[in-house]
Amino acid sequence: MNFKITHIGADHHVTGSCHLIQTERMTILVDCGLAQGHDSDIPMDDWPVHPSNVNYLFLTHAHIDHIGKLPELILKGFEGEIITTYPTKELLIPMLEDAMSFSSYDPMDVKTILNKIDDLSWGFEYNEMFNINNDWSFKLGRAGHILGSCFVQFETPYESLVFSGDLGPRNTPILQDPEIPSSCDYLFLESTYGDTIHEDRSQRIDRLGQTLSLALKDKGIVYIPAFSLGRIQELIYEMDRLFTDPQYKIQFPDLQTTPIPVCIDSPLGLNITTIYSKLHEYWDTEASALYQKGDHPIDFKHLISVHNYKDHQKLLEQPGPSIIIAGSGMCTGGRIIDHLNQGLSNPKNDLLFVGYQAKGTLGRDILRYSQRKNGYAIIHNQPVPIQCRVNKLSAYSAHADQNELIGWVKSFPEKPKIIKLIHGEYSAQLALKEALSEHGYQVEL
Ligand SMILES: [Zn+2]
Repeated sequence: MNFKITHIGADHHVTGSCHLIQTERMTILVDCGLAQGHDSDIPMDDWPVHPSNVNYLFLTHAHIDHIGKLPELILKGFEGEIITTYPTKELLIPMLEDAMSFSSYDPMDVKTILNKIDDLSWGFEYNEMFNINNDWSFKLGRAGHILGSCFVQFETPYESLVFSGDLGPRNTPILQDPEIPSSCDYLFLESTYGDTIHEDRSQRIDRLGQTLSLALKDKGIVYIPAFSLGRIQELIYEMDRLFTDPQYKIQFPDLQTTPIPVCIDSPLGLNITTIYSKLHEYWDTEASALYQKGDHPIDFKHLISVHNYKDHQKLLEQPGPSIIIAGSGMCTGGRIIDHLNQGLSNPKNDLLFVGYQAKGTLGRDILRYSQRKNGYAIIHNQPVPIQCRVNKLSAYSAHADQNELIGWVKSFPEKPKIIKLIHGEYSAQLALKEALSEHGYQVEL
């Protein structure tokens, strides 16, 4: 091995992705994410290199657990190049601007940091090989996780490395499927769902339609906590199908009789949806075909944008039936908190989880305590009884499950010499290691 690697974050956790590669001639970071919930990482002051000595930062995608520490990196003197795909470059600044608005940064510092990030970052096309520092080259491949997501393939004179980033399942709405990398010696593979088999995705819209039909029967409110980037756009896409596709119109007549308002109560989610719309050349063939036919796949008539805070407050007072989609996806902050505070104790309402809930987050607590008699959640330091129905649709994961991870690894033209599992809880990693070992792979935790 002609490089040294330090997993600064997301070694045995799912958030805080940050991996440091040191060679004799340069230092590279792959992702610079923020650890969330109880996940831990190495504080920047304890890194083996000073941030000012990092030459390149590769970003696999624009989720905060992969980019959230970038402002700190800049403040600590990083002057290198930020390399990512063109769509991720477009999503980077709005994502960081939003994250920084919840922090203690001075607004002037925020502006300076964001301008600096904009200056240092470069958007690259997929699947083209580029040189860095003479002897290393890289290529970005589609990872199918969110728009702009990629895996990074490095070729060096001695060995080749692949960082999977977050790997999506096949058939994700709007996105093209994950691509097959070239052979590599070292594969750094995410393992979020290394111990899980997701529900069948082909039934996903049906399950959403059924859940919404049932939930709205008693004219309650359906709350869907969702990540602003990726999940909100997927949900809009599938609701657009439910409300406009003739097949679903027949299948779910309850959803058609009165147009149920679907409120996107997330300024960031709305901003990202606009960027998704603008980047339609990166969509998959199905979404593109709808767009060509004049049915914008991430927009429909009774989709309501809730931009400002006043309208958010008004929405809190409005009775059902309605569907409210708001961030954050794990209920760690954002407007969903006010909605849960208001509606969690009403048995007519429904809370629908469509994403991973990390340990230590309010989302995880609600999932856990909703199973218990007299279960409650702590919101704004007060106990709120969980009396609404709590549902989970795991087919909405933006991560490949165990079968899909193994399928992706098997698609490599040759077996990687070593697979190092990252970005997963220890138990998921153990299960994936066992499964991959059965297929003859050399796996490290
Ligand atoms: Zn991600």
